[in-house]
Amino acid sequence: MLSTMQDVPLLVTRILQHGMTIHGKSQVTTWTGEAEPHRRSFAEVGARATQLAHALRDELGVQQDDRVATLMWNNAEHVEAYFAIPSMGAVLHTLNLRLPPEQLVFIVNHAADRVVLVNGTLLPLLVPLLPHLSPVEHVVVSGPGDRSALEELAAERGVRVHDYETLIAGRPRTYDWPELDERQAAAMCYTSGTTGDPKGVVYSHRSIYLHSMQVNMTESMGLTDCDTSLIVVPQFHVNAWGLPHATFMTGVNMLMPDRFLQPGPLAEMIERERPTHAAAVPTIWQGLLAEVTANPRDLSSMQRVTIGGSACPPSLMEAYDRLGVRLCHAWGMTETSPLGTMAHPPAGLSAEEEWPYRITQGRFPAGVEARLVGPGGDLLPWDGTSAGELEVRGTWIAGAYYNGPDAEPLRPEDKFSADGWLKTGDVGVISPDGYLTLTDRAKDVIKSGGEWISSVELENALMAHPEVAEAAVVAVPDEKWGERPLATVVLKEGSKADYGALRAFLGRSVAKWQLPERWALVEAVPKTSVGKFDKKVIRRQYAEGALD
Ligand code: ADP
Repeated sequence: MLSTMQDVPLLVTRILQHGMTIHGKSQVTTWTGEAEPHRRSFAEVGARATQLAHALRDELGVQQDDRVATLMWNNAEHVEAYFAIPSMGAVLHTLNLRLPPEQLVFIVNHAADRVVLVNGTLLPLLVPLLPHLSPVEHVVVSGPGDRSALEELAAERGVRVHDYETLIAGRPRTYDWPELDERQAAAMCYTSGTTGDPKGVVYSHRSIYLHSMQVNMTESMGLTDCDTSLIVVPQFHVNAWGLPHATFMTGVNMLMPDRFLQPGPLAEMIERERPTHAAAVPTIWQGLLAEVTANPRDLSSMQRVTIGGSACPPSLMEAYDRLGVRLCHAWGMTETSPLGTMAHPPAGLSAEEEWPYRITQGRFPAGVEARLVGPGGDLLPWDGTSAGELEVRGTWIAGAYYNGPDAEPLRPEDKFSADGWLKTGDVGVISPDGYLTLTDRAKDVIKSGGEWISSVELENALMAHPEVAEAAVVAVPDEKWGERPLATVVLKEGSKADYGALRAFLGRSVAKWQLPERWALVEAVPKTSVGKFDKKVIRRQYAEGALD
C-alpha cells in the first residue's frame, strides 16, 4: 500500500527559498581585513544568487548538469554560488585551493568544468594552470586582485573573463527554478588524493537536504537563528561540513573569514564578532590556542566548537575547557557529506562522567548505519574492545565515485563492499551504546611484531605534555619488528625538553613496548591541503634521511 503523502523533491532550491524569505534578516558577514567586515543579509545573498543563476544561464550558456567550479575562500559570493549553481540544475564543483597544481589540473579536466568562479586574490594560483584546463570556457572574477595576467592569457586562449559584479548587475531577482529530480547531482568534491588520483564524490540535492537537516539536529550542531557560526572549515572541504546549507535552513548567521585564516585575525574576529559556534580542524584550534596564550583575547562567546577532520587530542579539549570553550569532536569524510558521528555524551552525566564520551569520535546519527569488519571479513561486536575497519551506509554516504558524465560510476573494491557499504579505511572500536573510537587510519597503523600500535594514541599522549605544540607519529621500517613508531615533535617556544624527558612522559600513559625509539624534533609537522598531519610526507622524509 502506498502512502497518502505529498512527494515534494528535496532540493537545494528549497533551502535557498526558505533561507532568503523566512530567515531573510540573518547575515553572512565576510572578514575583509579592514575596519568593518562586509555584511549581507540572507535575503540579499539569495537575490544575488538568483541573479547569478540568470547570468550563468543567459550570458555564459550554462545548462543542466554542466559543472561550474569555484576557486574561492569562504565568503558571501561563495555562498551565492553554493545556491545559484545547483538550483538552476548545474553542478557546483568546489576546488581545493591548497591542492598541488597537477591535482587541480587533473580534477578540473576530469570534472570537465566549463566555468570557474574565482576570487581575485587567488588569480596567481589559477593563471598558471589555465593553459592546462581545456574544458574551461569562462572565468568569473570576484573581489580585489590584479586581473591583467588573466585577461592577457585568456584572450590568447579564447577563454572569456567576466567581472562577478558586472555580470550579475541588473539581472532579475526572481527565477522560475526548475523542479529537478532530487537524486540529480547538485555538487561535487574530490578527495585530496592521498593515494593515487583524487576521486570525485557527487552529492545529490536529496543527500544535501537530508544532511543539512541532520547538521541542524541538536544531537549534531543544533544551531538556531540566535547563533553565529564562524565557518573556518573551507567551503572546498566537504562543503564546509554542510554549514552553508544548514545555516540557510535555520537562519544561523555565518561569519566567513575569507583569506584571513591565520590565528591572529581569527582571534580578532572572535573577539569582535562574538560567534557562538565555530567549525575547523584541530590544527586551526592548536594555532589559535598558541595565539591567545601569547596575546590573550576573549573567546568566551564560543559556546560550542565542532572539531574534526582528524583526531582531536584530549589535551586540546582540556585547554579550551579552561577558556570556557567546549570542543565537540566529530568524524566524517568527503564520502560521508561529511557528518558521520558527533561526540555528545548521553544525558544526565557529570562533567567527569562525560569526559570518556567526549574524547571518542562520537555516535552515529539516525541516517548513518555502521558496522565493524575484522581482518577476515567477519562482523565484529560493538563491545568497546573488538577493533576493525569501520564501514558505513546511509542516505548521505557515497555509493560510488564519479567517472565522467557518461561512464559507469567507479566502485573500487577497496572502497565499497560487495553489499554496498562504504569502507572508510578507518580502524576503531564501537562501544555497546554506539560511540566510535578510532585508533588509526588503516594505512597509518603501526604493525610492530604482530601487535598494532595506534599512532593517534601516542600523538594524543605526547600532545598532553605541556611543552609539546604538535606531535605526529608514523610507522617506519624496522628489521626486528617489521615496523616501529617514529615520533616527530614540535616543541613550544623556549622549551628545553629532550627525547629522554618526552619518552619518560609518554611512559606514564603508554605501554613500554609501544614507546618510540626513534625521535625527531621538527619545526613544523607537514600538513595536507586541508590541514591534517601529512604522514606520507613524514615517512618520505624519514626514508630520505631528512629526520635523522
Ligand atoms: P582526506 O581523505 O583527503 O584526508 P577527508 O577529509 O575526506 O579527506 O578525510 C577523511 C578522513 O579523515 C577519515 O577517513 C578519517 O581518517 C579522518 N578523520 C576525520 N575526522 C576524524 C576524527 N574526528 N578523528 C580521527 N580521524 C578523523
